[in-house]
Amino acid sequence: PVGRSPDTSASGGGGVAAPDAPSMISVRSAQKHFGDLHVLRDIELEVPRGQVVVVLGPSGSGKSTLCRTINRLEPIDSGEIRVDGEPLPSEGRALANLRAEVGMVFQSFNLFAHKTILDNVTLGPVKVRGKKKEEARARAVELLERVGIAEQKDKYPAQLSGGQQQRVAIARALAMDPKVMLFDEPTSALDPEMVNEVLDVMVSLAREGMTMLVVTHEMGFARKAADRVVFMADGVIVEDTDPESFFTAPKSERARDFLSKIL
Ligand code: ADP
Ligand code: MG
Repeated sequence: PVGRSPDTSASGGGGVAAPDAPSMISVRSAQKHFGDLHVLRDIELEVPRGQVVVVLGPSGSGKSTLCRTINRLEPIDSGEIRVDGEPLPSEGRALANLRAEVGMVFQSFNLFAHKTILDNVTLGPVKVRGKKKEEARARAVELLERVGIAEQKDKYPAQLSGGQQQRVAIARALAMDPKVMLFDEPTSALDPEMVNEVLDVMVSLAREGMTMLVVTHEMGFARKAADRVVFMADGVIVEDTDPESFFTAPKSERARDFLSKIL
């Protein structure tokens, strides 16, 4: 199977995670400014192992910044972020490993244009994870099959559709054996007919037990796969609840207003 199931914790020694096992993602009192702009305001977020959290909110509310702080593409000003119980490293080898363990898929696919699909997926495991080339290739082919792209493995990114490129981007992140996957509006740049082929891969990943934080406006995905919905506005987590409650009975005016615009 792809990724790690909820009960194969690296730190837990197998079996079902203990109730006091650390969250896979833990954000405590996180503050972030860009100059005068207070983008993350005292963020508190715990994502247990195996949970799928959908992050919703209007444009500019801090969703991308939150994702980027979790794999330390952006440092926070104060507070603490832990992944699988460990504080985020700030540099060097440890940071490279963190970026591998926290897979990220963006709106733009960011594949290496001058590398084949197969090379795009094997590069990281060989360079960062120190895998043997043959082993990395075998795993890459497996993952490309998993996302339905194996026949395209010798092509270059520009020869693939947007939906196919995004599935390669997912396979590339999975090839690093991540503990967590972050998705930042992974289907926003796609033509409508390609959205589902990407969402389907994400839904099956969720069902296999991957811990996921997903920024998306795709309500179908939220309803099918989310354990929780976190609603952000102006850098604040305004609601943090189950999808059913959020969609049928949002508590805040901000959330009601947001839902009335997207549903
Ligand atoms: P969202 O993803 O919810 O649309 P973002 O996290 O991208 O929100 O942005 C939150 C706010 O921070 C916005 O006002 C945005 O313009 C600002 N912002 C994001 N990145 C930067 C940056 N690197 N420098 C300055 N301002 C930024
Ligand atoms: Mg964003």
